[in-house]
Amino acid sequence: MLLDSGANEQNSTFPLERAIGNIKDADPDHDGYYHSAEQLLELGWTLSARDIGTCRSKTLRSLLVKELAARRKRLWELARSYLPPDKLPSLRQGELLDIDAGYVYTVLVETGRKLDSSLRPMDPGVTLYHYRNLLSAETMEELYQAGFYGVDLPGIPGVAPLGSAGMTPIIVMNSRNSKCFVKALKWFISKGADASRKLPGTNARVAHLLTERITMNILSNQHEDNWDYWLQTFLLNKNKDSLVPFVRDACACACSPGGCTTLSVALRLVFSILPSLYSAPYPAERLRRLLKILIEWHRNYPKADQVLIRCFTFDALSLTHTCCTGISPNFPHRSKSKDKSEIDDILEEEKERLKDLERLVSELEAKFEGFGLPVLEFLEGYWHSCMIQFLSKLDPYDEEHHKEVRKLGVVLEVDERPVPYRISLVIGTRIKEIINEELDEFESWWPGISYPYQGMVAG
Ligand SMILES: [Zn+2]
Ligand SMILES: [Zn+2]
Repeated sequence: MLLDSGANEQNSTFPLERAIGNIKDADPDHDGYYHSAEQLLELGWTLSARDIGTCRSKTLRSLLVKELAARRKRLWELARSYLPPDKLPSLRQGELLDIDAGYVYTVLVETGRKLDSSLRPMDPGVTLYHYRNLLSAETMEELYQAGFYGVDLPGIPGVAPLGSAGMTPIIVMNSRNSKCFVKALKWFISKGADASRKLPGTNARVAHLLTERITMNILSNQHEDNWDYWLQTFLLNKNKDSLVPFVRDACACACSPGGCTTLSVALRLVFSILPSLYSAPYPAERLRRLLKILIEWHRNYPKADQVLIRCFTFDALSLTHTCCTGISPNFPHRSKSKDKSEIDDILEEEKERLKDLERLVSELEAKFEGFGLPVLEFLEGYWHSCMIQFLSKLDPYDEEHHKEVRKLGVVLEVDERPVPYRISLVIGTRIKEIINEELDEFESWWPGISYPYQGMVAG
């Protein structure tokens, strides 16, 4: 039957996936295909992770997994018989060759031995799990139970399966493969895959890459009604904790002193990508819903509210990140950090605004503590008013000059300048009314700035 699909006995590399990929368990001719597949495998048909991942029939898939396990067992027996112990990779009890299978095959061939070509691994240098976008969590569990334990081994570009992109660019993921992606993520974490592993080429960790992928997925999902379902079903575990563990990376950036956290990375992505995904203005209500999801997702993280206040202020001041903005969610092995001279230039150029950031953040955090409001309400009310006040008077070209003059006790009349469009500032446009007396106190922090708005907030 499979011979009709293009497979023939001289062509043992004809991909099985093309012949059996579409066969389902319930198909009337399923059994026929099953027996043909058995025969072809016996004849030495090549078999890869792709064949297993794309197989839609459970019983056929189990046949492929069993056959792959048997072939790897044979390869290991040959290796133990003919190779010196120092050439053998170390395997755990019951473990099958996976990432080292290509190496073992090559070394055995170099000894001059003629090997059955069906033993030649199709995917040298990576584990089966690097094909995770083709493999459902269920299939991966089947492979694991068969003895493929290398769930967390870095493959050739140095990326372990959890941090690898797989085959589907995140931006074109549909809801079905989004769900598969998160189920697979849960599976990897349950098997002990390490989300704090460093992402090659950057200071970031795998957890930050995952956060970017998940956040991108949420942002590109047009149906915001799905967001909450997503959160409850996929992003939180039984205890309602985030699936992505709290991990700090080694970045130095004022958006998150001490290293990026997954929440700071999610916010960074929201602020940077929304203006390119949607033409301004972004609806405030939608932003609020999105933030509620991010907050709920990270609600057990230490100091999540303070992270929000800092990241919002950082964005409103149009500061430039010196952290891991070079994470490439679709091509993790191409992720790249900014180099030192680029970072030094940014820090020098934005020196004064960075001082403003620290001052604003410490004042705003103190206010936030005092108010005892939920952080979103604080951001859309008080925080927004303060930022608008500040930005409408900030003149970046003459900042130094104004500071010098202020030291002399002279207050210059500064022209109001238009406040730039920043996603962070969208948050306040939902609430126009604010309390006057709260603003009065603002005056004491910024004596050199007068207040264009009392009672009404621009936006
Ligand atoms: Zn940053
Ligand atoms: Zn970072």
